[in-house]
Amino acid sequence: LTGATDLILSGLNEKQREAVIADEKPTVVFAGPGSGKTTVLTRRVLYLLEQGACPEKLMAVTFTRAAAQEMKARLQEVMPKSTQKLWIGTFHSLFLTILREKSEAIPSLLKGNQQKEIIRKILSVREQPTDEENIEAYLNQIGLCKGNAILLERMNVQKRNILFREISSEYENWKQKNNFWDYDDILLEMYQRVKTSEELAELKGRFVQVDEFQDINWIQYQILVKLVSQHRSLFVVGDDDQSIYGFRGSNPRIMLQLHKDFPDLQRIVLPANYRSTEPIIQANNQLIRQNRLRQAKPFQGLGIDGAKVEWIEPQDENEEAERIIFRIKDGVETAVLFRTATQARALTDVLVRKGISFFIPVEHSFYRRWQVQDVFAYFRLANNPNDLDALVRIINRPKRYLFGEEWIDACRYLSKKTNRTVLDALPDLSRLDQVRHLRELSGQIRCLRQLAPVDAIPYIRATVGYDRFLEDFARGAGTDLEHLLEPLDELMVAAELFPDLLSMIKHASRVEEALKQSHPAAKIKLMTLHRSKGLEFDRVFIIGLHAMIIPHYRSLNVPEYRKNEVWEEERRLLYVGMTRARKELILSSTKTRQGKRAHPSPFLRDIDVVREHAKQELIVDQNTSKMVQAMNRKELDRQPQMRFIHEKISVGSEILHTRFGKGIVEDVVSIEGVAPRQKDSGLF
Ligand code: ATP
Ligand code: MG
Repeated sequence: LTGATDLILSGLNEKQREAVIADEKPTVVFAGPGSGKTTVLTRRVLYLLEQGACPEKLMAVTFTRAAAQEMKARLQEVMPKSTQKLWIGTFHSLFLTILREKSEAIPSLLKGNQQKEIIRKILSVREQPTDEENIEAYLNQIGLCKGNAILLERMNVQKRNILFREISSEYENWKQKNNFWDYDDILLEMYQRVKTSEELAELKGRFVQVDEFQDINWIQYQILVKLVSQHRSLFVVGDDDQSIYGFRGSNPRIMLQLHKDFPDLQRIVLPANYRSTEPIIQANNQLIRQNRLRQAKPFQGLGIDGAKVEWIEPQDENEEAERIIFRIKDGVETAVLFRTATQARALTDVLVRKGISFFIPVEHSFYRRWQVQDVFAYFRLANNPNDLDALVRIINRPKRYLFGEEWIDACRYLSKKTNRTVLDALPDLSRLDQVRHLRELSGQIRCLRQLAPVDAIPYIRATVGYDRFLEDFARGAGTDLEHLLEPLDELMVAAELFPDLLSMIKHASRVEEALKQSHPAAKIKLMTLHRSKGLEFDRVFIIGLHAMIIPHYRSLNVPEYRKNEVWEEERRLLYVGMTRARKELILSSTKTRQGKRAHPSPFLRDIDVVREHAKQELIVDQNTSKMVQAMNRKELDRQPQMRFIHEKISVGSEILHTRFGKGIVEDVVSIEGVAPRQKDSGLF
């Protein structure tokens, strides 16, 4: 071994070395979290370079662009020169590079925002909501179908709703006519080529390394098998226990059955976890050994002592946030992980209020959710009846049958001429049948002006009819209503702290500002469990560990025969999160969520520290959890959102509160610092 090779192998254990210098034939490194898989893969690339492999032929595939950048950085540190020509990236970019090398005319690639623009146009012609999230939902759905090329036809026959089929085929037609591709077309094109011809076998001499191989999908694998069919230099690392993209079509069985396609497969198991302390490793194992669909692996830590894993039960989301903020005062690098992005709302709000800098991926932003933005448009309009942007946004939510855009200019003109607000001028413009809707809107906005956010939101949802709009939307788009309503339930919790609409609007823009400044180097990082894969942190909080959240009720919405599979994927997701921790792991289940009683996740039951501390009985299995689920759903059932804002609330009146239900008003007080509501102006 040369000096350079020595350096490349320095600090590695025996098995890791064996993997780095393994013969060039199909190899799988199969091992648990923190065992050095990514480390080995990176060093392997260096080793092959050192052995004289041509950098242009070396490829390292990662699952995200962020992971690719991380690997590039690690390599560049050691070998700044030869790594420049190295190819590191995602499957999509790998295949694109290969297709381009064949130097055929490849259609131009649609950029993300161009794709969105096309969908936006298609949707707007159909009078469908054209918001970011809706557009993304369509693009994701289209991507899922294409990533499973083989399933596409069957899926079409099955449950894809008509609207989706129409929109996706219009999108495909547009691309074809204008000679464009999207990223999934790259996969499909590669797949077609390797399937129908052997031409790509010319591409011999590639050294392909793949990280996180457990998340490969069927089509990517088929292509890969062909690509390495001659040279057969395939080196993959993975952990079946960390497969969390089944919902997108990834399949961990591919890794477990590699030997079927490659009979001379070398299999290397890495034995030790370098990442975590003993108590954390124990908790992780207690959890994952409950899964049946897995390969057992020998697994041990290095015997590093450390703090016990903690389980905390704060009263609600705000207390949870406060406890996190108290803990991070010591400056220890901390990640806060959650199952769904909405769960980051409370902590984000508190961090912004306290001026603590933090990192959160922009796509997790709560106040950018389109339903939330709709509600804010109502707020803005109430605050300023000349806010045309806001008016345009909500004019047909719910439907008020005002289309086209000429009315905007006309409206502006009329309002100037008659010295009225845009909103007041609006009814004069419209055809007779619309006037009623617009008068009504005008009145509603005037009414909103007098409400605090906690009352304004239910008013918009029930009286103005925004929830009805979402119901129609869910029906049309074939999506789950509960999911669409969730941000609004969360918004209700957020609203409690604001005396008036304006202060809430201002807060949202402060949060927006903070997100723009958000930087990955911040000491505190917020992200979903999915997003945390492959990373590690000294301290990890996993928040909102509730029965409906993990396993997530939406993911369990699958045919009976798939329930177990999906349940186990949810458990793996929690496992991925827990295994990110180096020194401290804190699991948190609040006693209430969004103001309603919440139950701890059934997965926690298998973790000793939780079981020892649980005062209430923990949910045992899938069936009990289903019951809880049904129970919670019932609670969630849209309560008749009758509001009594048309009457003065006075002592003795019977009211129906959206959160607390039916009751009698015992006392009316104005809270200090909260602006007393304006008197009934006689508008209603
Ligand atoms: P995951 O499954 O979570 O992706 P992994 O198997 O890819 O984990 P790595 O991220 O490569 O694990 O390594 C985990 C940590 O252990 C890293 O901080 C790495 O630097 C360290 N590590 C790996 N091997 C060794 C070793 N032989 N000696 C000391 N530290 C090591
Ligand atoms: Mg890794």
